[in-house]
Amino acid sequence: MAAHSKLVINRETGRLNAASWQPSPNCSARPAGVEPELIVIHAISLPPGQFGGEEINALFSNSLETHQHPYFEQLQDLRVSAHFLVRRDGEIIQYVSLNDQAWHAGLSTYAGRGVCNEWSVGIELEGCDDQPFEQEQYVTLKQLVNTLKDGQTRLKTAAVVGHCDIAPGRKTDPGPNFDWSKLA
Ligand SMILES: [Zn+2]
Repeated sequence: MAAHSKLVINRETGRLNAASWQPSPNCSARPAGVEPELIVIHAISLPPGQFGGEEINALFSNSLETHQHPYFEQLQDLRVSAHFLVRRDGEIIQYVSLNDQAWHAGLSTYAGRGVCNEWSVGIELEGCDDQPFEQEQYVTLKQLVNTLKDGQTRLKTAAVVGHCDIAPGRKTDPGPNFDWSKLA
């Protein structure tokens, strides 16, 4: 997939035009008056290192068949989501409106402020700690981050951080292979 021609966020619905919409029940309203001010980059693949399947969509819709792979057993009762997933070819899937909080960060703190889900946007890259990401993913991610920063007032000056930065010791994603210089 080539770069997306133009990404636009509908302020009303909180949805991105170029994303396929697969709504997740794992979300909740942001607290009154709270807008996103932080962008959190994650990596996920299920099982780790295997790409292109439906397992991430299944996890975010609480329909993952956890008996199908030993790794999935630990995910049994997890209720998680993200706003976006960028697949290996740059395709974007959106699970949660930007107006709501996705359940991506867990126990987390950034710059002295906790509960990052309430005031952040979560973007998953399909990937894992020990493999490089695809060029298409960087192109799409950069477009997406720029669009988020353009479209939403508080996000204009938002820090872009890794899950590892807000949950150190607990999370390693997006991992050592993520090249932050490609977002600059
Ligand atoms: Zn993560």
